[in-house]
This record gives sequence, C-alpha cells and structure tokens, in this order.
Amino acid sequence: MSSRKKVIVLGGGYGGVRALETLSKNENLDVTLIDKNRYHYLQTESYNLVALNISLDDIIIPLDKLVKGIDENFCFIQDEVLSIKEDKLICKNEEYRFDYLIIGVGRTTLIPSIFKNDTLFEVKNLSNAIQLKQSFENTIVKHLKKEKTTSSIVVVGGGSSGVEIAAEMGNYINKRDMTQQIKVTLIADLFLSELDDGSRKKAISTLEGIGIRTIQKMVKKVEGDKIYLDDEVIDFDFGVVAVGLDVSDFIKNLDFKKEGNLLKVDEYLRVKENIFAIGDCTYLLDKYNKPLPPTAQTAEQSGVIAAKNILRTIEEKPLVKADMKIYGLAIALGGKFAIATASFIKIDGILGYLGKKAIEKFYKIPLKLKA
Ligand SMILES: Cc1cc2nc3c(=O)[nH]c(=O)nc-3n(C[C@H](O)[C@H](O)[C@H](O)COP(=O)(O)OP(=O)(O)OC[C@H]3O[C@@H](n4cnc5c(N)ncnc54)[C@H](O)[C@@H]3O)c2cc1C
Repeated sequence: MSSRKKVIVLGGGYGGVRALETLSKNENLDVTLIDKNRYHYLQTESYNLVALNISLDDIIIPLDKLVKGIDENFCFIQDEVLSIKEDKLICKNEEYRFDYLIIGVGRTTLIPSIFKNDTLFEVKNLSNAIQLKQSFENTIVKHLKKEKTTSSIVVVGGGSSGVEIAAEMGNYINKRDMTQQIKVTLIADLFLSELDDGSRKKAISTLEGIGIRTIQKMVKKVEGDKIYLDDEVIDFDFGVVAVGLDVSDFIKNLDFKKEGNLLKVDEYLRVKENIFAIGDCTYLLDKYNKPLPPTAQTAEQSGVIAAKNILRTIEEKPLVKADMKIYGLAIALGGKFAIATASFIKIDGILGYLGKKAIEKFYKIPLKLKA
C-alpha cells in the first residue's frame, strides 16, 4: 500500500491557491484541487471588468494550468461538492477519498427576496458580473448612438464592493461627459463602515465629484424598474446588489461546529482531525479572538496556515497556531483615485490608486506566469 498521503483542496479561490503553493513543498503528497469552475476568479478586480477597463482574460486564471504550474504532479478536477461522508468527498460526478481535506469554498452573495429582479446583478458570480458588464456596455452604446436620452443605474450596498463598482462606472461616464444622460445612484444605510469618519467623508465627496448620487437610506422594496425608499421612488434600467454575504447549502448542511452559518475551527484551523477550513466560509478570528472580515488577504493567510499544518501533521511536528490579520484596506474610487489604509499610514488620490494597483499586480502576475 502506498504511503503517499492524499490531500484534497476544495475550492480554487484565494485561500485554496495559497494552500496549494504551500503543499508543493512536500513531494510525497498526492494533491488534488477540486472546484466547480475551471477558473480562479479574481473577484477583487471585478469592478474593473464591469466598468469595461479590463477583459475576461485579465480576471480569470485557468485552474488546470495553474495547478500544473504550481506543481506538475498536482491534479485538478472540475466537480461540484455536495457533501462529506467520513473521509470521502461526495461530488456531483464522483466520490473522492482523502487523508486530509482543506475546505475553501468561499461565500455567495446574499440576495434578500426584495432584490430578486432580472435587472439587478451581483458580482461574486462571474456569469452575473458579465451580464452586468454587458448591460453597462449596451447602455453606453445606446447613448453614443442617441437611441436613448436618459438611463439610470442603481447600486445598492455601501461596502467596498458596491462603492468600487459605482465609482468605476461613474468614472467611465464622467470621463465621456455623459453624466447628464446616465445617472448612477449609490444607495446604502451605511457607507464604508470600515473607514474612519474623515476617510469616509473624503470617499463620498470623491464619488459625488464624479457625478454619483449617494443616498443614505434603506430600500423598502423593488418592483419592476422602480426602487422604493421611504420618501422617494427611483426608476432604474439596471443595477447591482451588494448588500451582504451568505454560505452555500453545502456548508450549511455540513455536520461540523458552526458560528452562525460559518465553519468553526480550532486554533489550527481544523474542523476535525484531518479536515481544515479556510477563507470566507470559515469563522476566522484574529489573535485577540476578534472575528475577521471576509477578505482575500485573510483567505490567503488561512490557506497557508492550514496547508502548513497538514505538512506538520504528516511530519509529526507541532502544529502552528492561526495568526491572521488585516494588513490594510484599499478602496478604488474611480479612475486613478483610491483610498488605502494600513496600520499607521493613510493615503488617498493617485498614491492610493498606485498602492491598490500594486497589490492587485503583486497577486496576479506570479499566478498568470504559473498558468
Ligand atoms: C467586488 C469584490 C471586491 C472585493 N475586494 C476585495 C479587496 O479589495 N481586498 C480583499 O482582501 N478582499 C476583497 N474581496 C473579498 C474577496 O474576494 C474574498 O474574501 C475572497 O474571494 C475569499 O477567498 P476564498 O478562497 O475564501 O473564496 P473564493 O475566492 O470565493 O473561492 C471559492 C472557490 O470555491 C469554489 N466553490 C464554491 N462552491 C463550490 C462547490 N460546491 N464545489 C466546488 N467548488 C466550489 C468556487 O468556484 C471558488 O473557486 C472582494 C470581493 C468582491 C466580491
């Protein structure tokens, strides 16, 4: 019988990819990545895709090639997981046995029932992001051809996703002198709660400076092409919903400890002796036991720690405790303007933009080279 251990990484997102890179340090493992999609989706850059700044190829990395680029002995299988039974992963096409498993399936967009509407899109799902991009593109073309006199785009959600998408569409429209014809409205009960008051005010005035209307209110209902607020009804042609996150039924149905719907892990990121959980689907804590927000940076760090702990378990070494942190935030505010904050530094404008671009490129280029 082979002594090579079988490791499955479930989910080729930010956490899963970092886990694979770490696992490649041990040559004596059979490592398989399983993902329902054949691509690693750079969600953090989706605002650029939607606002026509980049193409599909800039935002996806083929997982089959990437996996081979990380380690030619690793393998990729496209399949969708349904459940876990002891040491087997039950997927749509097959069952896969593992000695060690890392669960990194991320989260989905929460779309409350009032927002279920054919012309409201979300961006966590690539197909949806592409539909949104196409709606934006069609609107621009209609105005260039003078087939339409006015259009209205709404973005619901004041977190960084909603703000970045509104900002980039607003910037595109502003640069082409179309702000009188195409209106962008950003609606949220709270804007950029992760920023301090000064940065938040600056962000909102930047958005308004490029023609975006910001409304700090709750949406009451959506009917057809109308959004109802307390005291106003807004007509819209299409829009974006970025109001919260949920987990998939696969995670909800797993019989492991949970915090809310998220997987609860021990200090080594285990849900069970040989099963680890990472990234957005996990209830991650910092070293002060404070919950961490779902970000690519914490997903990446947790992927590295879980993989290290698998290697250390096999080598019979003591495990390392999880110690994830948020290094900083960078929020794109349209064109060459962004706000970036790290522990003691706060930069905005072109410097913030350059910081944000550097982070994106630093992540993407090495992966593109491997694929
Ligand atoms: C618009 C936007 C902007 C963002 N900006 C930032 C930012 O600036 N900085 C930052 O740090 N974070 C940002 N984030 C958050 C960041 O994208 C997430 O925190 C990150 O993607 C989480 O990584 P993950 O590995 O946990 O999951 P994901 O990257 O979501 O990957 C999960 C993987 O699992 C696969 N999968 C899911 N279900 C199954 C299944 N049943 N079977 C098989 N495979 C499955 C998926 O196909 C996917 O490949 C942003 C998010 C969005 C939407």
